[in-house]
Amino acid sequence: MDCVVSEAVVATEPIPPFTNSSMDGYAVRAVDTRGAPVRLTVVGSIMAGHALNQDLAPGEAARIMTGAPLPGGADAVCMIEETEDHDEGRSVTIGREVRAGEFIRQPGRDVGIGDVVAAAGTVLTPAHLGVLANQGKDSVLTYPRPHVGVLSTGDELYAGAGPLPPGKIRDANRHSLLALARREGWGCTDLGIVDDDDEHLRQRLTSASSTCDAIITSGGVSVGDLDLIRVVLEDLCGGTMRWMQVAIRPAKPLAFGLLAGPGTPVFGLPGNPVSAMVSFELFVRPALRAMGGHRSLHRPVVPAVADADLHRRSDGKLHLLRARVTLDSRGGWHVRTTGGQESHQLHSMSEANALILLPDGSGAQAGNPVDVMVLNANDLSENGSALLEHDRQMTVS
Ligand code: AMP
Ligand code: MG
Repeated sequence: MDCVVSEAVVATEPIPPFTNSSMDGYAVRAVDTRGAPVRLTVVGSIMAGHALNQDLAPGEAARIMTGAPLPGGADAVCMIEETEDHDEGRSVTIGREVRAGEFIRQPGRDVGIGDVVAAAGTVLTPAHLGVLANQGKDSVLTYPRPHVGVLSTGDELYAGAGPLPPGKIRDANRHSLLALARREGWGCTDLGIVDDDDEHLRQRLTSASSTCDAIITSGGVSVGDLDLIRVVLEDLCGGTMRWMQVAIRPAKPLAFGLLAGPGTPVFGLPGNPVSAMVSFELFVRPALRAMGGHRSLHRPVVPAVADADLHRRSDGKLHLLRARVTLDSRGGWHVRTTGGQESHQLHSMSEANALILLPDGSGAQAGNPVDVMVLNANDLSENGSALLEHDRQMTVS
């Protein structure tokens, strides 16, 4: 599931594999039903998975269940609701004329031999797995899923469960980042916490590179006294290391490099918990999706109506506001922020399913459209109302 096919898969078997009935009823020769109602002799009963070992002769019918193979000589099925049994099932009245081909599934009408059932680049869904199973394929070639290691840095991070020692904080980032990676279906290794010691950091990154396709660190990437990621990556990644100040808020600093030797990419994300998560969404996720063979790399951005004023001041940066986007019953997107927007305020991120992309300027007024990046499309209704409206419109026949 969610793997990306690297080599096209071509059908070698027709689906359906044989002509069969799409209804419970009677297999007939359509010509025999001319001038219906007509009475036909029932020569047998065919269940799915079984065949009738004789062909239908003129004036004959066979009771047939959905999915059962059509007997030779038959070219249509009359549904059971339009028939009447007689003589304890030895004969049947067909209530109306049926056309040749009616309620019959022809072989290859779903998939023909030679059809491409999964092109290279296809992201496998549950339906694809069924289609591949129909072909008797138990394996197909896909891009390997990346395996990522996640590491937190900082002397202040306390890993214990008990009360916090003075000056320490708990490690939120490792858990959020590991969960984000797992949600993508990537393999994950928890690389733990490293204190602000360049030699420890060097060792942990080097040893992780032997088991990970990519490494994500958080913290130590700004311009503070103990912001060592930059120094260590400069050393370990040689000329590939880039340290950037991205014109966004939150998540301004970012380091990236390829470890010399194995070439393992290392993403140095900022330490503030919201910044770390936003950097993951903007930079890590698209890059690792590309490594996994995906062609669609970015989260969808939709135009949504701001339900309240969005204030900001001009600072040359794109602001990404934690927000909740909803889809109303008429397909309209609405958005409102979820709370405090400082980069350490993780609670508002946990309430959000989207980021408002607010360009440099003075903000947006209520009722105006804004671009919104949807982070969690599985959770779009504010209080279930959109879903309920949809449910109400469905009827049972
Ligand atoms: P740094 O980039 O290391 O200066 O960290 C920026 C801010 O993020 C500081 O307030 C850190 O204490 C905090 N921080 C760093 N790493 C984590 C983490 N793993 N979990 C929670 N907060 C963190
Ligand atoms: Mg730090």
